[in-house]
Amino acid sequence: MEKETRLLRAYDLQEDAENIALAGKILREGGIAAIPTETVYGLAGNALDPAATRKIYAAKGRPSDNPLIVHIQAVGEWAPLVRELPEEALALAKEYWPGPLTIILGKSPLVPESTSGGLPTVAVRMPENPIARAVIRAAGVPLAAPSANRSGSPSPTTWQHCADDLMGRVDAILQSADCRVGVESTVLSLCQRDKDGRILPRLLRPGAVTLEQLRAVLGEVAVDRGVLEQIEAGEKALSPGMKYKHYAPAAEVTLLEGDTRQYRAYLRERGRPGDWAMCFEEDLPLEGIPARSYGGREDHAGQARQIFQLLRELDRLEAKRILVHCPQKDGVGLAVYNRLVRAAAFRVVELEG
Ligand code: AMP
Ligand code: MG
Repeated sequence: MEKETRLLRAYDLQEDAENIALAGKILREGGIAAIPTETVYGLAGNALDPAATRKIYAAKGRPSDNPLIVHIQAVGEWAPLVRELPEEALALAKEYWPGPLTIILGKSPLVPESTSGGLPTVAVRMPENPIARAVIRAAGVPLAAPSANRSGSPSPTTWQHCADDLMGRVDAILQSADCRVGVESTVLSLCQRDKDGRILPRLLRPGAVTLEQLRAVLGEVAVDRGVLEQIEAGEKALSPGMKYKHYAPAAEVTLLEGDTRQYRAYLRERGRPGDWAMCFEEDLPLEGIPARSYGGREDHAGQARQIFQLLRELDRLEAKRILVHCPQKDGVGLAVYNRLVRAAAFRVVELEG
């Protein structure tokens, strides 16, 4: 499926207006393109065109039961995609859109099965990145846009990551700034109701809009088991994406949970050639093991920006094992933990002594 991939500069709405219009045209005509968003780069195609979404799945090598998020650029574009828009959804959009929050509701017939992965629901988000919104506007259709990586590899946070994974597989890659957030959007389902018809919100994937922020608007929000634990083979996942081995580099990743003294002692006693430490700023310097910091212990937003880029870098450096100092799980830290524990295939060691 070797294609000619056009690299289009898109840093600035005015200066790069021509390239943004061209990207819109490519997408409107059924092509696929990697575009910047504030979370990670997305691989975009017309969400209402099954042929375009099939191209996305093929380029990524993504299983087709894993539904796609539909991106819009104005709240008014939401209603045609869903069966109904409850007040809870509108209250969330008012507070956190445009931004890194995806909301799942019952889908309208307009949304093809290929976009919803065969589910009766649809995930919708309005991104904050102005280039992303301009591309959607230029395309004139809502865009399905999963992360612009090959399925299973770490998500792309720079346009170069997209080029590494997708050159020759997509019609265009927009060359734009590095992603501000660095991890994928928060995914919240508003599809369940109790017997009195009240919505039971459920967090399916943590992101930069935190559980605490969702609760500030909605009150109670349940956390799906798949956020912190492994979904067993054969078990039904509410968010199909959560059941796949995900975000993983080639190296074997392990999370080590404990303080700096315990982390250092483990590396000293159990380290082997080929190991790399992925640690907090505060853990440095580390003796006898090459190390990269992924941010300060309390700097969850900084960690989120670093993790995928660092996992790719450690692969390039041919790390055999990556020993990660386990992040805290509050605020945006929950999103960082959720991604790293998947990269680690759920290998977590609790340090003692
Ligand atoms: P990505 O497109 O790579 O950011 O992944 C999208 C995530 O959203 C995956 O984990 C999907 O399983 C989840 N998702 C998208 N649409 C739905 C939906 N209708 N119901 C449940 N989960 C969804
Ligand atoms: Mg992805």
